[in-house]
Order: sequence, then structure tokens, then C-alpha cells
Amino acid sequence: MKKRWIALLFATTMLLGCAGTGIKVENAIPTGKIGGSSLYVKKVENLPDDFIMGMDASSVIAEEQSGVKYFSFAGEEQDVFKTLAENGITHIRVRVWNHPYDAEGHGYGGGNNDVEKAVEIGRRATKYGMQLIVDFHYSDFWADPGKQMVPLAWKEMSAKEKADALYAFTLDSLKTMKKAGVAVGMVQLGNETNSALCGEKNFENIAKLMIAGGKAVREVYPKALVAVHLANPERTDAYDGFAKKLETFGVDYDVLASSYYPYWHGTLENLANVLNGIAEKYGKKVMVMETSYAYTGVDTDFSGNTISDESANIVKDYPFTVQAQANHVRNVIDTVAHVKNGIGVVYWEGTWITVGTNSWEENHEKWEKYGSGWASSYGGSYDPDDAGKYYGGCAVDNQAMFDPTGHPLESLRVWNLVRYGNEVEPRADAIRDTAIEVDLKGTVKLPETVDAVLTSNEIRTVPVTWNVTDAEIAAMYKGGVKTYEITGEAEGLPARLLVSMVNFNYLKNFGFEDGVIEPWQTEDRGGADQLYVENKITDSLNGTYHMHFWSAKKDSVDFSLFQEVKDLPAGTYSFTISIMGGDAGDTEIYCYALVDGVEAGRTPMRITSYGNWDTQTVGNIEVQEGQTVTVGIFVKCSGAGSGAWGKIDDGLLNSQS
Ligand code: CA
Repeated sequence: MKKRWIALLFATTMLLGCAGTGIKVENAIPTGKIGGSSLYVKKVENLPDDFIMGMDASSVIAEEQSGVKYFSFAGEEQDVFKTLAENGITHIRVRVWNHPYDAEGHGYGGGNNDVEKAVEIGRRATKYGMQLIVDFHYSDFWADPGKQMVPLAWKEMSAKEKADALYAFTLDSLKTMKKAGVAVGMVQLGNETNSALCGEKNFENIAKLMIAGGKAVREVYPKALVAVHLANPERTDAYDGFAKKLETFGVDYDVLASSYYPYWHGTLENLANVLNGIAEKYGKKVMVMETSYAYTGVDTDFSGNTISDESANIVKDYPFTVQAQANHVRNVIDTVAHVKNGIGVVYWEGTWITVGTNSWEENHEKWEKYGSGWASSYGGSYDPDDAGKYYGGCAVDNQAMFDPTGHPLESLRVWNLVRYGNEVEPRADAIRDTAIEVDLKGTVKLPETVDAVLTSNEIRTVPVTWNVTDAEIAAMYKGGVKTYEITGEAEGLPARLLVSMVNFNYLKNFGFEDGVIEPWQTEDRGGADQLYVENKITDSLNGTYHMHFWSAKKDSVDFSLFQEVKDLPAGTYSFTISIMGGDAGDTEIYCYALVDGVEAGRTPMRITSYGNWDTQTVGNIEVQEGQTVTVGIFVKCSGAGSGAWGKIDDGLLNSQS
């Protein structure tokens, strides 16, 4: 094992040395550390040497101004850009807003990222051999699929005037960067411009703006790639539609970049298909420009997060752990690297952490003063509906790749390790929640095993112990229909059991809601005109389906409806069912139970008129293990008027004792 590592480290040094990336950092991979990494990383095969490993680090300056310190894996305070470079990051992305300040000069927040900030970040990135990806929002504050607000200074301009202003702004900004010696590798023409840009919604105008921006990029940084950035790859045809319009209107660009947040943006397979489609049809380079994954479900800065343990209706491909964060990054890289013309993956705001661990008040002061939260209260003057209402701290601190004290998480090593792999013995990383239903009249049997998610993201069944007393279980029976949470431990990790106490029904399709009769059976002795499962909510006792019968001829309503149940636990049971109907004439109706074919009880029932349901029970059905129970309803009506009719619904077989 050790030998293998020495060989790998040697290969690593050679590769970096030969790749010509210009990284001047000594010890680009911290030898002796990475070899001992417990992080499981499956090698990404055939990963190109020049694959972009990006980190959006837009908030760093505001963070540092707020007192945040960043550390190396060795535990020493160190320029975060050096730490990123050492760990395989090749590109730093930075957002640029035109003028994120109110009339009094108060910053709107989100890093107060103007051109000046981008230059400073760019200089530091360049110092450590990385290139800058400039993310022009062409707005004074956040631009995304939900909003693309025009900068205040351009508000009264026509589309043509706006295009001229955008050209001048881009040209000027990039010239400033060039003068400062910033290595710009890529420039975005807007941020997540799904349906608008700079306040323009008409595509001809959007194209004019993009053409103007692209022209400026070509003039100042002719080698830099020009990117168009969209979000929502799960809307599979939208990217193609956008790319087609870009082609139609002659927008000059090199890269179609996508955001990919797995909680909402579809599967990796779908992402690959969408990107492949663009690469093949339009010949463009493709990449993921933003992605991230939570390493914890817990908030660390007293300002709520986009994703948390409580998040509902999100896709959660992995648990929220440091290892899972690395698995996510690895799998996105693996996906993009194997797409046609796939050039890279950029992580979003992996350096945006809490500005303090004491209180909301203390943090709030910093967010307001330095813009280190997502929005300050001043942002409300420009964006009253969002920033004005919800201003606060960081909403993604639990998706950063640094802990709340500024130390890198082990997951940060993934950017290097994907090239060589680090397939250490998989171990349990998190325990999946277990849910069981327990019959209020039955016996609770706590599961002896649970599913562990391994560091390799495989599932393994492992033994578990639950922290629950007999008295607590007894209380659950007394509490009626309700769900309880029991904690436990498996493989040294916390486990959770959700116990739903229910009135368990041993019948299947008990209320006919499957829309079919099975596994109920009928014996139609009289040859009824109609005997079927009907979808009619107004005639059902519960739900929308029930069993319907009608027959015109006298004595032709004569049938039994029944269900056989095998493998019941030994015990005493009761069976309940409901019926309503009319025009019945003389009747013989009863519900019944058979145990191994021998009658165990029957209870008479009757039908009177529409809507008057008769509900009856057969009790004290004694069942031994291995016996078959048949429960059903016997219906015989002579019929009156236009024929006997009725409805049957909601069978219930449950334990009695
Ligand atoms: Ca937060």
C-alpha cells in the first residue's frame, strides 16, 4: 500500500511538472498528507490534463475583511488561493456586478463584487498559477433565472445604447484586469441567462448584448474562451432552443456552460445527454459552471441555508457528509470529462463560510459593513422584493469546502485525487433512516439491521442498536396513531428509526383504490348485470373507488366478494366492511370469516337507501400460524322496482387483542 503511494506521488509530481500549467507552487500536492487521506475517491479515467477544475471564490475578499482566516491542510494560516492551487484547482471564478452600492456608498452584499474586487481576486489567483473565469452579471446585483435586473446607470437606455455601454464596460473591466497582470482564461456573457439579460427579454436584444460583450473579450483577451451560462438542464430541450437562437442571431461564443445543482437539476445522465447534444449539434465546448453539495445539514452562521436537514422535495443522491460532497464532485467531473467537448467543472462558492461563530448580531454587523452575507439591508434599495425582504448571511456555508473555522475539509483533496484515485477500503459514512409501520394491536419488532451508505456510496447492511426502553415502547402503543423517532447507533454512526403506529390492515386493495378487483375475488351465483370496481367519488365511502353491483332481473343479485389472506401472525382478528344500496326487496346479506375454509363467524348486514352505509364487524377470529383466513361479504337480494343495486367499500382486517 505504502509502496503504491510513493509511486503515485512520484507520478503526480511528474505530471504536474510536465503539464505546463505554470503552477509555481512548491509541493503542489502535500506529500505525506494526501497519501494518508481517508477520503475514498474513485479515479476518473481518461481525464484530460487541461480539464478545468474551478472554484468560485467571489466572497473571499469580503470574508477576509470580516475577519475570516483560511488555513492549509498543515493547519497553518495561508492564502486561500494557495491552498486551492495546492489542491488541484486550476481556475478561480469571480462574479462582477457593475455597481453594487447604494447612493451613500453602502455595499449591497454578496461580497460587494465590483471590478476592483475581481482584479484583486484575479491577481491572487494568477500568483498561484490559476486562471480567472470572469462572470459578468451585467447587473448591479444577483442575476439568475429569476431576475436579470438592468444596472441603474443603464436603466433609461435603449437596447442599442445598452449594447454600447456593455461593450465599453466589458472592454474597460478586462483592460483593468490585463493591466494588473491577471490571467483571464474565460469570460461569461451574463449569469444564468435562461430567459433574460440586463433587463432585456427579447432575444434579438439579448443577442445584441452578448455580441457586444464577446467582441470586447476577443479584443482584450483573444485567447480567453467566451462562455454563455444557463441553468436548469433538467428542462431538456431548453438548452438546444437557446443554442439555436444564439446561432440564428450570430452570437460569437466558445462554451455553453451549465449550472448543476443535483437537488433540482435532474440526473447526471440527463446532464450528460443535454451537454452532449449541444456539443454535437453546435460544435461548442461544454462544462458545468456551478455545482455544490452539502457536507452537513446544519447551518453554521445563524442565517438559514438553501439546503438543510429539513429540506423537502429535493433530490438527495448522497447523505450530507464531507465524503459525500467529494463523491458528488468526483461524479460531476467524471460525467463532464466523458461528454463530447466537456472541458471542466467549477464548484460554487466553496470558500464562503461563516464570518463568526458567536451570534447572529455579531455576524449581522459584519454582513452589513463588509457585504459578506448574501445581501445587506442596503441591497433593498436596488432589489426591494428579494434583498429588501430577506437580506442576511450566507445560505451555502454548509456547502463550502472549508469548515466554519477556515480549515479545509478533507473533500477539498478530491480535485487532485480524481486524477489518481484513492480507493481506500470503503467504510460506513452515514446511516440511512429506517421507517417501519407497527400495528397498534400488534407487536413492535425493532429492525436489527440498517442500511449504511459507504464512503464509496455503495450500500451495506449493518447491525444496529436502538436507544429505547420498554416503557417508551409501551407509551407508543398508548399514544394511538402517530409517528415516533428512535435514535440508535450503527458502525459508530448515529441511526434514526421512524416508527409509525398504525391501525394495520392486513387486506390488500382494501378500499379498491388500485382501480382493479384483485386480490379480492367474486363468486357470482346469480349472474348480475353489473358487478365491478367503479371510479365514482360520490358513491365511495372513502377514496374514489368502490365495488358496484346492479341487476334488473329478480334474484339475479346473488354473489360473494372475498379475499384470502395467508401468513398472518398468530392471534385474534376482526373483519369489518361497509355496504349501502337500495331497491333490494328481500335480502340475505352478511359479512363473514373462514379459517382454513371453516366458518369462524358471520354478522348480518342490510341495505336501505342511498348514502346510508351499514358497517359491520366479525370479531374474535382466532388464527394459528400458517392458517389461511378468508374474509368477505355475502349478498343476496330478490330485487324490487328497477333492480337491486349497491356499493361495497373499505374492508379492514386487523388484530383485535
Ligand atoms: Ca447560513
